[in-house]
This record gives sequence, structure tokens and C-alpha cells, in this order.
Amino acid sequence: MSQAGINSSQDIRAIVQQVIAELRGASAPGAPVPSLSPVAPVSFAGRHGIFASVDEAVRASQEAFEQLEKLGLEGRRKAIAHIRRISIDDSAELGRMEFEETKIGRLEHKIEKLKVLGERSPGVEFLTSEVFSGDHGLAVIEHAPFGVIGAITPVTHSLPTITGNAVSMIAGGNTVVVNPHPSGKRVAAEGVRRFNQAIQRDIGIDNLIALIAEPTLDTAAELFNHRGVKLICVTGGPAVARAALQSSKRAIVAGPGNPPVVVDETADLDRAARSIIYGAAYDNNLLCIAEKQVFVVASVFDRMMEAMERAGALRLSAPQVDRLTQRAIVMVGEGAHRHPAPCKDLLGQDASVLAEAAGAAGRAGLELVFGETDVSNPFVPTEQMMPFLPFVRCQNADEAIHRAHESEHGFRHTAIIHSHNVRNMTRMGRLLDTTLFVKNGASVAGLGLGGEGYISFSIATPTGEGVTTPLTFTRQRRCTLVDDLRILGSPE
Ligand code: NAD
Repeated sequence: MSQAGINSSQDIRAIVQQVIAELRGASAPGAPVPSLSPVAPVSFAGRHGIFASVDEAVRASQEAFEQLEKLGLEGRRKAIAHIRRISIDDSAELGRMEFEETKIGRLEHKIEKLKVLGERSPGVEFLTSEVFSGDHGLAVIEHAPFGVIGAITPVTHSLPTITGNAVSMIAGGNTVVVNPHPSGKRVAAEGVRRFNQAIQRDIGIDNLIALIAEPTLDTAAELFNHRGVKLICVTGGPAVARAALQSSKRAIVAGPGNPPVVVDETADLDRAARSIIYGAAYDNNLLCIAEKQVFVVASVFDRMMEAMERAGALRLSAPQVDRLTQRAIVMVGEGAHRHPAPCKDLLGQDASVLAEAAGAAGRAGLELVFGETDVSNPFVPTEQMMPFLPFVRCQNADEAIHRAHESEHGFRHTAIIHSHNVRNMTRMGRLLDTTLFVKNGASVAGLGLGGEGYISFSIATPTGEGVTTPLTFTRQRRCTLVDDLRILGSPE
């Protein structure tokens, strides 16, 4: 090698050493020293999860994923603790923001949903490993992350869905990019910003949750198709559920429901009425699990209507029900896809607003309006998402269960029965085949509110994962050790 060559390689070494020294000097105390890879990666730290471009959001999410991997389970635990804390401590402020932005539902429930998610969404404790031990040694099955998950969230629970998804997905070791519903994008961004800021301050990782600030159907499609996204999780109605099921990526689909209720002649009618009002009026009927239509056996029908009034609901007369139906249900779609749907300006509105639309007098504190309809009333097949319930008179429990089945459209989402007849419960459970089946309680008991179990606002019905947990967002990996490590057996 020539003298000139030696000199230039010494020069290069000197320059590299100088750059390393400068980078060390520029780092905050205790911050990791940046690696000198040939092409220095762009860091997205400081964005606190808010992105204009899907590609940048996914790259930031990948960067965060790689950093999270290095911190192990403890890093996940710490990140989740911040999401829980903010969800509880800021619930009043964030709940009000969601209410004011989306203009649907009930303020007290917007707040309560965030609190409950902070308290009861499942975390890393769900990630138990399985072990097979035998003559040939050990096999351990562990639950590994997918990587970057693309999530689509609904307007009915914008920040709560993101909160529950983030806890479960991060507990599973993943990161997430969210394309929120455009009508709930501001509260989504505010929550995501707060979560990321607190997490970064504590464990030094930003963008564990990334969000598309101006979401559209195009950004949703871009997220579905981005090669950096390893798994999709959608929560929403029929269109997005279909799009996800047709996607080439593995999808977890929390799709629509239209939960029917059956009340038979053995039910405790007052308890049934209180439960139906609590579940159906919760957040003005926005929940996908909420009671949407009620089938009552004729021999107790009139007494059940009286029980509903005693429990505080307002009964509409037949002309009032007709008037409300005309105002509240519209036809949408073309040709074979034409179907009834809730009218946007009554969706998620208060019971008093519905009463007035029906020509009845509303009153302060009114939670639910209801009335007798026949099975052809469009409220029966429609997921109305407003606090009016149609009650249909049925000859017997068989007819009620059969009509409940028809009205659920095979979504296999949620069904409720009020009965003390085990055969009716069993028949309904078998026929409707739903992910959630609640007996003698409000629908929300199926998510652990007044019942047992944990909560998530993504209930994966068509793809079968059920009420999602951290395990939903993991893939199994098996590690096999042949012959050794098993301590049972005779000494050598
Ligand atoms: P929606 O279907 O109108 O929107 C949901 C999300 O999907 C939004 O972010 C929307 O922008 C997006 N979207 C819609 N069409 C899309 C498409 N073709 N491609 C990609 N993205 C698309 O629903 P919504 O009104 O926001 O929420 C209410 C619906 O969600 C109800 O049907 C309810 O049952 C369902 N839901 C289900 C669950 C569950 O856990 N199964 C939970 C909450 C809500």
C-alpha cells in the first residue's frame, strides 16, 4: 500500500473517532450511544405518536418495537402502567373531549369507559408459557410479538378502543399504528400524545402508539397494505370488517353486532327490566354488545312492559313508535345491498331527544324509551345505536329464540336471555352461537361490568379470538431441548 493510502486511511480513522466523540458529547447523560451503522437511521423520537404519513408512522413504530424488545417484560409493564394511570387520572378531561368531539353517547360513560379500561384491561400477566415435559426432555411454548400492528378504531369509543388495544398489544410486545375514525381523531391524538410522552419520559421510547392525524379510507388502505405491518386489528361495522377479512394479511376482526334479548315466562321481570335499561342505555346504546331488540313471551309481555316503566323507561304508543321509526331509520346502499340504517342525527343521542322526535315529552334523567313493535319494524334488524328498544310479542320461548336468532344476522356477537329455565338458556346459547351470551344480567356484564372477566372494546367475532387479550396479539414459538433439563427420572 502506498504512503498516501496509509495516510488517507489514518485520516478516515481520525474522522470517525472525532464523529464518535462528538456524538457522545451531544448525547444526554445516560442516553445510549448511537451506533455507527453505514446509513444512520432517522429517529422519530419527539413526535409523540402523531404522524401525517402512514409510511413514517410505520417506520417510527418499527423503531419503537426494536427498542421495546430490548427492555423485556419490565419495559412493557412500565409502558402499560403509564397508559393505565393516564386513562384513570385524565378520564374526566379526556372523556369530555371525546364527548364534545364525537357528539354522541353520554358524558358519564365516556369517563367511566376510560377509567374501567385503566383498571381492568388485561396486561402482561396473561402471557403464561406452556411446558411439555417427558422422557425426551422439555418443550416450552412462549408467546412472541408480531411487531407493528395496524389498528382501525370506531367513533363509538375512539380513545377507549385505542387505550385497550394499546395495553393488550404492548403487553404482547408489539407496537401499534392507529387509523382512527375521522370523527374521533382529535381526542385520539390527544390521548396518544399523553401516553407516548409519559412513556418516553420514563423508559426512553417514543411512538409505541403511532396515530395517523388525518385519517381517511386511503390511509386505512395504505396501513392494511404496508409491508412493515405484520398484523391488522379492526374494530368497526360491516364495511371495515369486510375489508379486513379480504386483506392479504392476518386480521383480527372485531365486527358489528345486533344483540337480541329473550325474556321468557320464568324470568324475574323487574330484574330483567333493570338489566335491559342499564345495558341498552349505557352510553346511549353505542356499545356493540348493547341490547338492541327484545323478544318477550306473550304470557308475560304486558307485565314486562309495566316492569320497564317501573324501572324508569318511557313507553311510546304505537303512533309514537311509527313517528320515531320514520325519523330514526333511513335506507342506505344500492340494489341488493340496500338496507335500513340509523339516521346520523339521532345516533347516540339522549332518550329525551328520541322521545321528542316521537312526539312524546322527554324528561330529565330519562335513560331509555321503548315500545311494542312487530318483527317487521326496521328497528328490529337494525343496529340502531340509540336508546330506543323495540319489544316484540312472541307466542312462546321457541318463537322468541328463533326470532332472536334471525335478528342477529349470524354475526355471532352477543345475545342475552332473562330466564330461570335451563333448557331455554341452553337452546338459545346453542342456536345463536354468540361470542358473548349473558344470562340474567345486563349486556355489559359480559365485559366484566357487573359480571366476571376482563374488559376490552375489541371483541373479535368473525375471526374468533373473542374478547381480545395480550395473547390475541402474539404468535406461538416452541423451544425444544432434547433429553436434558428434565430432572425427573433415574440418576445416571
Ligand atoms: P364504522 O364501520 O363506520 O367505522 C369504523 C372504522 O372503520 C372507522 O375508523 C372508519 O373510518 C373505518 N372504515 C370504514 N369503512 C372502511 C373501509 N372500507 N376500509 C377501511 N376502513 C374503514 O363504525 P363506527 O360507526 O365507527 O362504529 C360502530 C360499529 O362498530 C358498529 O357496527 C359496532 O357494532 C362496531 N363495533 C364493534 C366492536 C367489537 O368489539 N366487535 C366494538 C365497537 C364497535
